[in-house]
Order: sequence, then structure tokens, then C-alpha cells
Amino acid sequence: MHNENTRSDILASYDVTSLFTNVPVQETINILVEKAFTDNWFNSTYDLNLQKDQLTQLLRMASTDQLFQFDGQLYEQCEGVAMGSPLGPLLANVFMCHLEERLSNDDLIPSYYKRYVDDTLAIMPGLDAAVSFLNVLNGLHPSIHFTMELSNNDSIPFIGTLITKNGNKLETQVYRKPTNTGLLLHFQSHTDLRYKKCLIKTMVHRAKELSSTHQAFVDECRHLKSMFHRLGYPSSLVNFIIDKCDYSSTPDTETKSVETLRVSIPFKDQISVNIAKRQMRDLSSKIGIDVQPVYTSKKLEQDLKLKEIKPRIVNQHSVVYCFKCDLCDSNYVGYTTRHLFQRIADHRYSAIGRHLRDAHGNIDLLNESQFRMLKKCSTKWDCLVYEMLYIRTIRPNLNTQSDSIRAKLFV
Ligand SMILES: [Zn+2]
Repeated sequence: MHNENTRSDILASYDVTSLFTNVPVQETINILVEKAFTDNWFNSTYDLNLQKDQLTQLLRMASTDQLFQFDGQLYEQCEGVAMGSPLGPLLANVFMCHLEERLSNDDLIPSYYKRYVDDTLAIMPGLDAAVSFLNVLNGLHPSIHFTMELSNNDSIPFIGTLITKNGNKLETQVYRKPTNTGLLLHFQSHTDLRYKKCLIKTMVHRAKELSSTHQAFVDECRHLKSMFHRLGYPSSLVNFIIDKCDYSSTPDTETKSVETLRVSIPFKDQISVNIAKRQMRDLSSKIGIDVQPVYTSKKLEQDLKLKEIKPRIVNQHSVVYCFKCDLCDSNYVGYTTRHLFQRIADHRYSAIGRHLRDAHGNIDLLNESQFRMLKKCSTKWDCLVYEMLYIRTIRPNLNTQSDSIRAKLFV
């Protein structure tokens, strides 16, 4: 991992106390907007033409005035970003990067410094340096408070990994919080078997990736075996998956995995997944390259894409509409619960058709452009009410007595 540290170096982790609820939102939005508009980066990347204040406004709308429910009561979050909001991690990160930029400008970043959202790991030359860096961090912004954790017996936990200093080497293994109960999907739970298999695979994979020594992997597997045993998993299944994962570490298969080609396909259902898997296996054996499908889920962006062009006025249904003759001032108000274009055809035989024939001698003058939607309604009742209101307001001369009677009935 990192082997340039000396024996006297110590590991320290710096943690922001409740980062999400302490991020100063307005300030962070301003920082973000300044960054986004540097060299017109945002607009040129996303092919947009937004002004600074427009992006500011959008970010404000999306991240402030968040409501949440607790114990039957509604609360409004007045400071910080909402947990679970898609913009939360972004804003938190922007703010942290901004603080780090200031540190970097003053040349205050330790030689080894890594951060994941609110969790930071650093290698410090000694305790004094570690404490003075904590003071520097706490002087950065009044709303952000850092705590420091030092290595205990040369070990320190950092995002799920226990890092141990062994001489001038760093070793890693899986870290489990003392509060971990080992409660995962139970084998008797009413869930498809493949999720249970995948759970074991995931945990074994994690053990493999986080263990820097084979001993650490073996130790973690022993722990996993007893944990899955308590959850009712058959030990043969657990052992089978562990053995498979252990075997895959041999150099033979590692060189093979270089030739893996991953193809991303949108996920539809399990049946199509099985078909794709079979066909790719078939293809793999033919071309000698391991082709693996990677499934992607539907993104929010796809949901927001304009799916269809807004229907033209004639494709609207349940509408109150108005006809206005091209050649004189005659007009007519009506409603239809069908599509407007169907109704337009019917008007060849109504007061409108009669007008065009009698006054202008040509029924074929009837066309869509003479119709205008007055009101889009959701029910027939709405149609009736609005038709009456429009007849009373516009007083169209082509509406017959019966239309007017209908209008009077509703008064
Ligand atoms: Zn006319």
C-alpha cells in the first residue's frame, strides 16, 4: 500500500462530526457555481447555456426547504444537506474539496493524506504534528468540527478496513465495528437463492480485496463461516464459494482475467439475463476472449428525457374549444370528450358546417387551424361547466338555442 513511512510515523484518522448536517449549503452552492463556471466548464460539458444565477437558483431549489417526517411530525431542515438527497454527497464533497484547496494553498496537507467523504487518513511524523494538524483542520471553518483518532497498537480503522503498521509496511484486513451484529439476509428468508449466493460471494470478495496477507483472508473466512452458519446457510455452500474465490488468486487465472471484455447491457429481467449469459459464454469460447455482461439500471436521466413530442391541439381529448371562421367573425364554442380532430370532422354536419355552406358556399373551408383549445379538462363535468362559462363570456353567434339552454340550465 504505502511503504515509504518510517518507524516513527504514526497513523491518524480525522473525521468530520456530522458532515451532512453541518455543510453550509448557501456557501457551498456559491463555491460550486464558481467552480462550474470556471472556463465555462459546466455549459460546454453539458451543452447548456445557463447563467450563474440560474444554476444557483436550481441548486437552491433542489437542496433547500427539505421536509422530513419524524414521530408523526413534519420538520424542515434549515441547515446542512439532506441525508439521502442525491445532491448530498456532491455538496459535502465540494465543500470538503474547497477546504482542502485552502490547505493546499498554504502547503499544509500532510505528505500522505487520503479522504473518503468525511473520513480522512493521514500518516503523520509524530503525535505533535498530528495534534497540530487537527488544530489546523478545526480552524478552517466555524461550522465544521474534526475529531482525531490515533492508531491503537499500530492499527487504525479506515472505511471498513483495519490498517496495521508492521515495521515500515502497512497491512490491511477487514474491519468490523464493535457494534456489528452480523445480521444479514437469513437463509430461511423468502428470497431467491441467487441473492443468498451473491451475499456470500460479496462478503468473500470483500475479504479477499481487503486482506493484504493470505493469513488475514483465512482469518476473515473463518469469521464468515461462523457468521453464515448462524444465519442458517449450509456450510457446504459457504465453503464452496470460499474455495472458488481462494483458487482464483492463483496467477494462472489472474493473467486470464486481463482478456475479459465487459459489455454493458440495460437490465430487463432475469430471463433476458440468463439468455445473454448463455450467448456470451458461447461467444467467449468462439473468440477466445472472456466476454462478460455488466447490467445497468435505468437512470433518472432517462426518466426525465422528453419521451414524446407534446401532442398538437387536435390530438387533445376532453377539451372545450372555440371555432372562428376565417372569412367572417362567426364563432362557436363546444366541448368534446373525444379527440378534438374527431369532433372537427363531425362539424361538417353541425352549425359550423351549415355556416360555411350557407354563408361562404364551401364546406371544404373547414380546417383545423380554425379551432383553438380554450380549456383542457379532466372530466366531462368540467367540460360542461367550462363550455357554459365560455359561451356566457364569448357569446358565440353560431351556437344554437339548445347550447344556450344548456348554458342556462347551469346558472
Ligand atoms: Zn363565416
